[in-house]
Amino acid sequence: MSKPIRYLRKSNKNKKRVKTLATFLRGLSRRKLRGLDGLAMALHKEAFKKIDCLDCAHCCKVMTPTFKPADIKRISKHLGMTYQEYQGKYLYKDETGDWMNTKTPCQHLRKDNKCAIYPVRPKDCSEFPHTQNREFKAYIASTHIQNIEYCPATLHVVERMHQLIIEQGKKNLSAADVKVKQAVPVGYPY
Ligand code: SF4
Ligand code: SF4
Repeated sequence: MSKPIRYLRKSNKNKKRVKTLATFLRGLSRRKLRGLDGLAMALHKEAFKKIDCLDCAHCCKVMTPTFKPADIKRISKHLGMTYQEYQGKYLYKDETGDWMNTKTPCQHLRKDNKCAIYPVRPKDCSEFPHTQNREFKAYIASTHIQNIEYCPATLHVVERMHQLIIEQGKKNLSAADVKVKQAVPVGYPY
């Protein structure tokens, strides 16, 4: 996902909070901490127990997913369009060569915040916000730092990590540090 519009930077307090969390994440990418990925997964589940994407849909409203050729092929077929028709109608190639939506909100976002092409949506959408991915650190620079300002679930995960690692000084991390009573699906929980 890319081309976001910041929405948390509305007050000086939020600016400070975002800066603190971004600095924390940069530091985290250089530290060796055992159990970080397990903790991230547990916090991801905790976040989506509290946050319903259908009340948010912020990513679909202000960001664009990256469309890989397999995504374009699958979606255009689903819509009864050719690959080229879909590309020409909805997408542009950015400076890095990735195919992105021309407009936001996404053309597939419905008024009820559901995705009209949910079963065939881009892989980038089904894996968003990537806080459940196995290597949390690998997504810090490219994804999580940006998303603390755009995705409430990412913000929750990073704030809780900050609480445990910095405020409580935990060095050996584990999913047991997070009390998750019930498993939830990864990605968009609807
Ligand atoms: S993934 Fe994040 S930004 Fe997208 S709808 Fe869910 S909580 Fe909102
Ligand atoms: S394809 Fe669906 S899930 Fe992805 S941005 Fe568009 S509306 Fe959201």
